[in-house]
Amino acid sequence: MNIAKVIVDVPVSSINQTFDYQIPERFQDILTNGMRVIVPFGPRKLMGFVVGKATESSFDNLKEISDVLDLTPALTNELLDLGKWVANQTMSLYITALQAMLPQVLKAQYKKEIKRITDEALPDPLENLFAGRDVIAFEELEASTIRYPQLQKAVQDGEISIEYLVKSKITKKYVTMIAPARESYLLEEAKQDLSTSAKKQRQILIYFIESPEAIEKQLLLKKLNTTSSTLKALLDKSLLGSYRTEVYRNPYDDDTITRTTALELTEEQQLAVQPIQEKIASGEHDVFLLHGVTGSGKTEVYLQAIQEVIYKGKEAIVLVPEISLTPQMVKRFKERFGTNVAVMHSALSAGEKYDEWRRIQRKEVQVVVGARSAIYAPFENIGIIIIDEEHETTYKQEDQPRYHARDVAIYRAETHQCPVILGSATPTLESFARAQKGVYKLGTLSKRTNEKDMPEVNIVDMREELHAGNRSMFSRSLKEKIEERIQKGEQIVLLLNRRGHSTFVMCRDCGHVKECPHCDIALTFHKNNNQLKCHYCSHEEVMPRNCPECESDLIRYFGTGTQKVEESLTKLIPEASVIRMDVDTTRRKGSHEKLLNQFVNKEANILLGTQMIAKGLDFENVTLVGVLTADSMLHLPDFRSSEKTFQLLTQVSGRAGRHELTGEVIVQTYTPDHYSIELASNYDFTQFYKKEMGMRKTFQYPPYVFLVLLTVTHQNKVKVAQVTQRIVQLLLKSVKDETTVLGPTPSSIPRMKDRYRYQCMIKYRNEPQLRDYINKILDQYAEEMRKEDLVIKVDMQPYHLM
Ligand code: ADP
Ligand code: ZN
Ligand code: ZN
Repeated sequence: MNIAKVIVDVPVSSINQTFDYQIPERFQDILTNGMRVIVPFGPRKLMGFVVGKATESSFDNLKEISDVLDLTPALTNELLDLGKWVANQTMSLYITALQAMLPQVLKAQYKKEIKRITDEALPDPLENLFAGRDVIAFEELEASTIRYPQLQKAVQDGEISIEYLVKSKITKKYVTMIAPARESYLLEEAKQDLSTSAKKQRQILIYFIESPEAIEKQLLLKKLNTTSSTLKALLDKSLLGSYRTEVYRNPYDDDTITRTTALELTEEQQLAVQPIQEKIASGEHDVFLLHGVTGSGKTEVYLQAIQEVIYKGKEAIVLVPEISLTPQMVKRFKERFGTNVAVMHSALSAGEKYDEWRRIQRKEVQVVVGARSAIYAPFENIGIIIIDEEHETTYKQEDQPRYHARDVAIYRAETHQCPVILGSATPTLESFARAQKGVYKLGTLSKRTNEKDMPEVNIVDMREELHAGNRSMFSRSLKEKIEERIQKGEQIVLLLNRRGHSTFVMCRDCGHVKECPHCDIALTFHKNNNQLKCHYCSHEEVMPRNCPECESDLIRYFGTGTQKVEESLTKLIPEASVIRMDVDTTRRKGSHEKLLNQFVNKEANILLGTQMIAKGLDFENVTLVGVLTADSMLHLPDFRSSEKTFQLLTQVSGRAGRHELTGEVIVQTYTPDHYSIELASNYDFTQFYKKEMGMRKTFQYPPYVFLVLLTVTHQNKVKVAQVTQRIVQLLLKSVKDETTVLGPTPSSIPRMKDRYRYQCMIKYRNEPQLRDYINKILDQYAEEMRKEDLVIKVDMQPYHLM
């Protein structure tokens, strides 16, 4: 087997195949599937993945592999197969799918070095090469006589490790450790000799006499409440010694963690967890939808299912939305499973992410908690996959490969024959419909564990406020209630639901929103030509001067930012102190956490923010939640807008009154009768599900059909329109009669970065060949895509339709 099949990093659509390369003698014993290699490709050298080996090739004059980047494969065989599946499902390149599985550090070519990680003697040639050093450059090894198999064995035996030098030095973290340098009785003697005034020195010595292990310097100083100079006195006397060591960059402070044990489950929890544990025990695949109101103890169900998996010696993947990967959430897993947990979070630096990934790869942990891409954790013995808040749209990746983590989870779980739990207080219609059909098993937690009712929700009709002469964005009752809470020393969460603002058009007198006559979806306002457009069916009309319903001239598009809200809030209520949380104030690493801590420490009485405050937060002292404009999302040009509104309102309401104090929610809206607002205020998911399913059926949207969104972009507008038109025609020739092809339509952002954008949408029930049809079309345009910079983006089951 001296020929390797390599997937090369050339992102051009016609090149989705493997290339054969000769394996040079020196790599023959070590090269396995899943390793990254450097290969010559035309005049360039490129990174690639070995996906197979062979004894012969149908090509002559094979080039040789230039370099091997890994001694431990970066990807397992399972992940290689998974990559193929993902590429096929999402219609993206195999190489792109593979790269999506790896931490950033491994996607590029980084400088390598070899580090000694044992104090034991290394095999002779290595010992000689290191010559007393701890780290050597990889080039030194290559220049030596040591062969790769020897190196690989040393890695496997835990004697050395290969390190990738991440560009920024800051990402490497070293700490100073302090340890006793003399035996206990000598420390005891030294203690006796100390002058009576040297109290602090004595304290440190006593510490090390009692616990002679090394301890991190900062931690020691904190524990004993002492200073570096006191410590230095003892170091100078050679009673203690210090050394520096690299640590895994752990972004979460483990020292503050107190371990918890399994709670006694409520009857509902018991009923929910039992069938899951049965599947874990029998090693069978199944998908469970855990539908539980906020505070009903879903997380405890996850924890106990994972416990079972750990007992069996298997591994668990837990996905949570990026936004709710808060320290609060992570802490609950660390409290239960301690250092057995790795965390994958986009706020980590490249180096930190790589560390966490390596802990998974080396099987140093059995649990990973992470955002979307953690679904690719390189575990080899998965016992459960959990997706919390399964309705969150962040589970769908918006770039290539456009995968949905839920689909990948189910596919992986089938491979590993293990259960999947999808948890939510407001499941997607897709998932709930599957549960209704019995495709997923439904578990229900209808009660909060503290037996408290969900907080009462009061809807305030903002049209009435306007008629009463109140033009501010705070209703009279919300203002009153805020003042009341401030007086009582309680806290308030205010949600500004900003997404979609400034695009939809609404009458401030009667609440009328302009919708498309064919699609029942709000029209989007295009400021530049004063037009209203539908993004599903191309309908367009002129922006009216007067409301078509009531003739009022107060028909406007909407726009408000958190900063503006904060200003008017402090003007209206001078006692209000506000912490503002939005994209702007949370951009810096750690700022999200800092702001939350400030709020918990009552440094402000109001937390004002966008969607990001709705999730995963748990504040004891919050008794009032206000939603400033519940409608703003309702009128997005998106068939999921009612569903998203219902989800957001339910979620944000769950933030109030989770503890001793009773909570209350105020929802301000111009459309108080809309079913998603009304039903959310009653926490009536079942009724909402029925109503919304009716709408989806009428207008033919998921889960009744599947969708594909094709977006064509190019600098030339005529060309974009023509190509899209042609694609529609080609599709119509191939698809079944009952399949709908909509378009060509300009995208809702018709020009982006000087490129025009047109789209076409396919709605289908059953088109087993659809990917082939689309691929054929893409092939037809391959030349133009390569040479003329034409882009055709394919999004299977899209979430963003703009
Ligand atoms: P969810 O994830 O459904 O929002 P949580 O898991 O956060 O709910 O649970 C809400 C609260 O109830 C938490 O403080 C949790 O510790 C507590 N809890 C969960 N299960 C139990 C139980 N069986 N007995 C007592 N308290 C519980
Ligand atoms: Zn009107
Ligand atoms: Zn329309």
